[in-house]
Order: sequence, then C-alpha cells, then structure tokens
Amino acid sequence: MSEPIISIRGLRVVYHALRGVVKAVDNVSLDVMKGELIGVVGESGSGKTTLAMAILRLLPPKVARIVGGHILFDGLDLATAREEELRKVRWSRISYVPQAALNALNPTLKIIDHFMETAKSHGIRDRKWVVERASELLETLRLEPERVLNSYPHELSGGMKQRVLIALSMLLNPEVIILDEPTTALDVLTQYFILNLLRAIKEKYNMTMMFITHDIAVIAGIGDRVAVFYAGKVMEIGDVYTIFKRPAHPYTRALIKSIPTLTGNIEEMKPIPGTPPDLINPPPGCRFHPRCPYAMEKCKRVEPPMVELKPGHLAACWLLA
Ligand code: SF4
Repeated sequence: MSEPIISIRGLRVVYHALRGVVKAVDNVSLDVMKGELIGVVGESGSGKTTLAMAILRLLPPKVARIVGGHILFDGLDLATAREEELRKVRWSRISYVPQAALNALNPTLKIIDHFMETAKSHGIRDRKWVVERASELLETLRLEPERVLNSYPHELSGGMKQRVLIALSMLLNPEVIILDEPTTALDVLTQYFILNLLRAIKEKYNMTMMFITHDIAVIAGIGDRVAVFYAGKVMEIGDVYTIFKRPAHPYTRALIKSIPTLTGNIEEMKPIPGTPPDLINPPPGCRFHPRCPYAMEKCKRVEPPMVELKPGHLAACWLLA
C-alpha cells in the first residue's frame, strides 16, 4: 500500500447550536493514501461533510470549531494552520466539489469565465493556458470543450454541469480532490457514467480522491477503500472487497442490507430501524447501541475500541474486540 497523503488524528469538530454543542466529528482518525479513491459513507448527519470541510477549513466561522486533533498534510497541520498557509493548499493542492454543486455555477457567466475566475484567484492570468488546460480536462470528461466553454450554465444538463465542476476542481492540478455527494442529484445512468469517468481520471492524473456519499452502493464499483461513519465516528475501515463481502461491524452490515440490488429479492432489503442519534446528547458507549440488534450491557456503557481484524481492516465493536 502507498503512504498517507492526509493523516487525520483524533479530530473533533463541534457546532454551536441554540440547543447546545453538536459533536459532529468526534475523535476521528483516518489516513487517506496517496493515489487511492476512498469512500466516506454513512447516513445524513454522520459527520462526513463536516470532515471534508474541516480538512480545508471551510467550516462556517463562529458556528463550527475544530476543538481537537490534527490533519497532517505535507508537514502542515491543517487543523491549526494560518489562513495564508491554508490559501496555498486550498484548490491548488486539495480541492473540494461541494454538495449541491450543480447550483454553484454563476448563471450570468459563461463556463470559460468560471475557469478564468478560478485561475485568476490563484494568480494565473494566462487565458491561453486556461483554455488549453480546461479543454483537456473537459475532453477527458467526455465533453466538447469549445461548445461547453462558450455556454452558460443553463445551456448544460445536470450531468454536464457536474462534469464542468469536476474539471474546475482539477484546473490547478491538485493532489487531492474531495467530492461531496457528486452524483446524488443525477439520474442513475448519468451517475454510472460519471462514476466511471471519475475512476478513469483518477488513474490518468494519478490523483487521490475522497468521495463522500450516503449511498454505499456507489462506492462498490469505483472505490479502493471505504470508511463507514456513524454519528460522528468511524465504525469500520477496509478495502472495498472486504467491506462489501465480509463487513464486520453490525452498522456496516445493516447499511449494506438497506440498499436495493438489481438481482436481490426486494424482501431481503431491510431499512435500518430507528434514527441516527442527536449529537448534542449522543448515546453513551457505542453510539449505534440503540439501533443495534446485538447490543449488550457493555455496549451501553463503554465505547468499543477500534481493533485491527486484519491488516488494513479495522472496526469498533465489542463483538470483535
Ligand atoms: Fe452493536 Fe455493541 Fe457492536 Fe455497538 S459495540 S455495534 S452496540 S454489538
């Protein structure tokens, strides 16, 4: 396996809400390996997006705060780095395609102007370079560069806009791209097409990708590894084959059983009972215990440690400790 490009250690992020302090990411440790596509999966509110925004320190100021831990990237701790240090990393070394990105394009600007604006904000004013780089990226993403660059966003379909945003995130040749639910708003066929393109461009440009999704099924075909989040914590990490074929954690197993398959019996599909916990007052012990069919007394009191089941496969559950 390659070396880590981002090492997250003991990360804690909180939101200050009117009702109290939301522990959105709580003591998360995770390595993102150079050149891999890692899927970060879990239900809504599990802390996936907060993790992504913490890596780039794009958390809403005043409301959210990193209260502990480290995010190590090329000798820099992004959790504590100064704003001018972060500016050298954001977009040019680690870029981010946010959730609901389809609405992120300015309707009054042609696509070429979006590329120019991004380049200019990093001191690049050479229009010829921008057009050449954008054209190459759009072509790789199976779009017609000339037509697309001269279009306004409303002249493009949802799938085309999503590919434009991926190309924009790649403009400055970052080492890592974080994609937050990049295919959620698209129809299934476009989703499948874009997922395959993502895999292809990752190989072509030797990039590292973090793919955040609530839909564990989309990672199956394109990911190298998966980190399963629940209620602000990592429950299980492993390679895609292990996570799908031999999931160890009851939550991962429940998540996989909750997705429909083309060949499976619809009656075998089981939604996870209950709802994710309130992160202002998360349950003590294992956070999954109120929904877990195997919960024991100990699970309600003591948090299970993350144990290595085999090299690279870790899970936090008392049944496995
Ligand atoms: Fe279930 Fe207990 Fe394992 Fe948590 S630690 S997943 S409650 S068995």
